[in-house]
Amino acid sequence: MELKLYDTLTREKRVFTPIDRSRVRMYVCGPTVYDFAHIGNARPVIVFDVLYRLLRHVYGEANVTYVRNITDVDDKINARAARDFPGLPLNEAIRKVTETTERQFHADVDALGCLRPTVEPRATEFVLPRADGKADMVTLIRQLIARGHAYEANGEVLFDTTSMPDYGALSGRKLEDQLAGARVAVDAHKKNPSDFVLWKQSAADEPGWDSPWGRGRPGWHIECSAMSAAYLGDVFDIHGGGLDLIFPHHENEIAQSRCAHGTPVMANFWMHNGFLQVEGEKMSKSLGNFFTINELLADWPGEVLRFNMLRTHYRQPIDWTVKGLEESWKTLDDWYWVAGDAAGGSVPAAVLEALGDDLNTHQMITVLHGIRNLAQAGNNKARGDLASSLRWLGFLRESAAQWAARRQTGAGIDTAKVQALIDARTAARAAKDFAESDRIRDELAAMGVVLKDSKGGTTWEVAR
Ligand SMILES: [Zn+2]
Repeated sequence: MELKLYDTLTREKRVFTPIDRSRVRMYVCGPTVYDFAHIGNARPVIVFDVLYRLLRHVYGEANVTYVRNITDVDDKINARAARDFPGLPLNEAIRKVTETTERQFHADVDALGCLRPTVEPRATEFVLPRADGKADMVTLIRQLIARGHAYEANGEVLFDTTSMPDYGALSGRKLEDQLAGARVAVDAHKKNPSDFVLWKQSAADEPGWDSPWGRGRPGWHIECSAMSAAYLGDVFDIHGGGLDLIFPHHENEIAQSRCAHGTPVMANFWMHNGFLQVEGEKMSKSLGNFFTINELLADWPGEVLRFNMLRTHYRQPIDWTVKGLEESWKTLDDWYWVAGDAAGGSVPAAVLEALGDDLNTHQMITVLHGIRNLAQAGNNKARGDLASSLRWLGFLRESAAQWAARRQTGAGIDTAKVQALIDARTAARAAKDFAESDRIRDELAAMGVVLKDSKGGTTWEVAR
């Protein structure tokens, strides 16, 4: 099949051809582990999980390497550690914050149906030269200095943006504009206002590593340059992340990696997912519409959150609404009902073609609805294909019965009481006490429960 992807750098959708079909390589910027991830953070995780699944399908599971880093050194982490564990030595407090948050992040994205990446390197393990010889931040910075792309000033090491003629190509920001618009006085030790930090000094109470430039810690951007090179090499296939990372983070990753390695590109495709807003507004703590993945999982199944995310094409802005979530849940109810326990089948070409068109999940869902209709009309092959497709995409992770029970719990219905009433009604019917049987049915209807009688017994679902 042909796979086309949109590349932010060249601003075109073009055919994806891996550098090496037996080693397809993707890097996606991962979480900074100081707090619960919010639903906006879930978008790239889900989008690139779908791409990962597609790449594995096309090139073979063993031939795709997906790296997503964990940023465990950051001033926000230090602040959180000091706040939450004031009695502990800083390094111990930091470890508590990062380990707890990392565990939480994994629990959240597992619930969203995302596969674990091939490798999840932690930034702190790539600061100093390593015994295994993999790329590290200090060595990259030394290379940048040696090649004339970085300089030391005021205890910092800075990247000299004027040393790279096409700096700014990803974001389309021209260096002259950045120079003209900046307030030079703020950072007098910088040669140019757009120069950025590769290494900075650490105070005694801040985490630090001994380096050729004194005890300090890396800037944020250099960690992704080091970890991508460590696992994927100097040039690889796909680099992903949210739109908000284009500038400065990805721009600076490109500058560091290309200038340190002397390569014309860092990655062949730069992919960015669009923004997420909530009920038509920018998500913010002050507006009270800020939701963590964890909070949403208390009210909605992970599969509903995942499906809701995929209804919008990844490059479009997404408006996250309760109405949309309810629609997503209804669709999944229907698909579980039609195909939840179906076996056999395969992923149809039309599903793959939709995804192959720059991950057109919106179109893919339309295709799935068509397959659903065939299945509902009695086509067993379609039923198997629907189930296969959904499972391959990270859905149908429960049995149809488990899913229905979850829905009932979600609707605030006491499932044990419902079952007791159904049993009483079955007994009444067996005794031909139809008045009592009807009364119980009405009582259940008042609870929002609809009964379905069949030869196999009575099942129930929540009234819609
Ligand atoms: Zn990054």
